[in-house]
Amino acid sequence: MTARILDGNALAAEVRAQLAEKAAALKATQGVTPCLAVILVGEDPASQVYVRNKVAACEKAGFRSIKEVYPPNVEPVEVLAKIAQLNADPSVHGILVQLPLPKQFDADAVLEAISPEKDVDGFHAENVGALMQGNPRFIPCTPYGVMKMLESGNVPLKGAEAVIVGRSNIVGKPMAMLLLAQSCTVTVCHSQSKDLAFHTKRADILVAAVGRARMITGDMIKPGATVIDVGINRTPEGKLCGDVDFESAKEVAGLITPVPGGVGPMTITMLLANTLESAERTLK
Ligand code: NDP
Repeated sequence: MTARILDGNALAAEVRAQLAEKAAALKATQGVTPCLAVILVGEDPASQVYVRNKVAACEKAGFRSIKEVYPPNVEPVEVLAKIAQLNADPSVHGILVQLPLPKQFDADAVLEAISPEKDVDGFHAENVGALMQGNPRFIPCTPYGVMKMLESGNVPLKGAEAVIVGRSNIVGKPMAMLLLAQSCTVTVCHSQSKDLAFHTKRADILVAAVGRARMITGDMIKPGATVIDVGINRTPEGKLCGDVDFESAKEVAGLITPVPGGVGPMTITMLLANTLESAERTLK
């Protein structure tokens, strides 16, 4: 058996076209252009690429974007002052601070400084709590993108065994909440889990969010399972690869996401979706 591929690029293009249409309508009828402000501190090359991609995606969808770049040794108070200014600006609908931040920063304090109404990453404690209560304001973009992919693949969720490998605040934990809200039976594995394969082999839906190249191999997958690979890793040859060993996994899985071209493009897409939703909310 060879798995059906869940094409993140194609789905992202479709959803982004819908978002661009909605943004154009909002501008035409209400005079409001959705606007995302992105703050980048330091010179981490991966962060620079992510920020560039986010700004480019905004422009392509007809959103406005603001990019604030600070040197690695900037005083946190300066960045906090910028966040306060963006919080107070009614033309800005979404604010995100690209992580990781340099050592002198308390990342939690920075995330808490963003107005929960503009926290399009969904990392503010108030928004994390709202998600936990089943009443989300902003769903964190990567797990949100995964849910859209499951929906587009018509993957049955009710009663399904879902296993998530990784328990980070930005992927694993919110992913667990979203799948639980859809009545999956959820298991969350992490670095201290015993016998990882025992858990992964039970999964109807397996989400890998670890950051270890090709660690999930075909023999760890239940035949016919849906396998979502969130991981982004570089091989020694400099190529991108996921946490799933795609070649062996695709022979066992029923549905699988590739890397690149899987979850990655959906993450930025859902950032646009959250920014548009935030802009629409200001009119209610
Ligand atoms: P973190 O490093 O924050 O979390 C990794 C998780 O994996 C931790 O919970 C850790 O466990 C767990 N883990 C580590 N080793 C093992 C192991 N041997 N067995 C089982 N679990 C293990 O990473 P993120 O959640 O931020 O990101 C995960 C991956 O997803 C990365 O490759 C990242 O680049 C990628 N990513 C991709 C995005 C996209 O758009 N496609 C967006 C965000 C992230 P413990 O808690 O015990 O340490």
